[in-house]
Amino acid sequence: MSQKGELYLIGFGPGSHDHLTFRAKKAIEQANVVVGYRTYIELVADLLEGKEIISTGMTEEIDRARSAVERAQKGDRVALVSSGDVGIYGMAGLVFEILSDMKWTPEGSDFSVEVIPGITALSAVSSLVGASLTHDFVAVSLSDLLTPWPVIEKRLHAAGQGDFVVALYNPQSKRRNWQLQKAQDVLLTYKKPDTPVAVVKSAYREGQRVVLTTLDQMAQAEVGMLTTILIGNDSTFRYLDFLITPRGYSGKYDLDSGEILHKGIDRPGLSLNRPPDFNVLKQQN
Ligand code: SAH
Repeated sequence: MSQKGELYLIGFGPGSHDHLTFRAKKAIEQANVVVGYRTYIELVADLLEGKEIISTGMTEEIDRARSAVERAQKGDRVALVSSGDVGIYGMAGLVFEILSDMKWTPEGSDFSVEVIPGITALSAVSSLVGASLTHDFVAVSLSDLLTPWPVIEKRLHAAGQGDFVVALYNPQSKRRNWQLQKAQDVLLTYKKPDTPVAVVKSAYREGQRVVLTTLDQMAQAEVGMLTTILIGNDSTFRYLDFLITPRGYSGKYDLDSGEILHKGIDRPGLSLNRPPDFNVLKQQN
């Protein structure tokens, strides 16, 4: 094949076709070779008729990335498919490591590369429980297969200290069965035991399950490979089956009229969540 190859790195969202972007769908249609983890291939199977499919098991990520790059190099139009966003705990990292090793450049190489974003698990999951991510948040993966546990634990401490809403990816599997309890213990040193938590399995896929609980009960929930967990910040509250994280406006704005309330030293543009010693600093300056 002498034509220039194309490599599409595609995140197809949480699973349902309604949440697949137009660009992702078009790129899958354009491809003649589709590469992906077996389960992912199954999720987009109906778009793959007539295409060559290279599907592999979960632990064969490097092989998958290599074969995608090799086929693009040979002139194929290759779609490497991945759930959620391909750049978030996804295959894009591995592929770009290979590209940088081989000194690939957009202009000078025999194939093009396009990264196509998708709806990542944390936003899919959050959409099922209302509005939990409307203030600062962090994502932490509890998988210590590629990251040493002390690094993960350090980040959990930082997330707790910063009062972030926390999204836990890869919270538990059959083999990784103690990390979730440990994460709960770390976060409980900063967050209240009754901090609202959403445990969501298979968002927008068959078998979707949403369970609302609290931080002190989190590790007791049924949690597996396809679960993402959202843990509130200090002001997150539960209303019906929703988790709501206020944006910090109540008390600063009248929610009905939208007018700014001048209370104490609060002025427009100042956060209500200022550090405790803010008043002291203000007076000194
Ligand atoms: N690239 C993916 C994440 C891959 S890591 C993304 O952007 O979403 C795998 C983890 O993602 C799982 O352990 C789980 O925590 C989360 N996940 C992926 N799809 C999910 C879904 N449909 N529902 C809930 N969590 C999901």
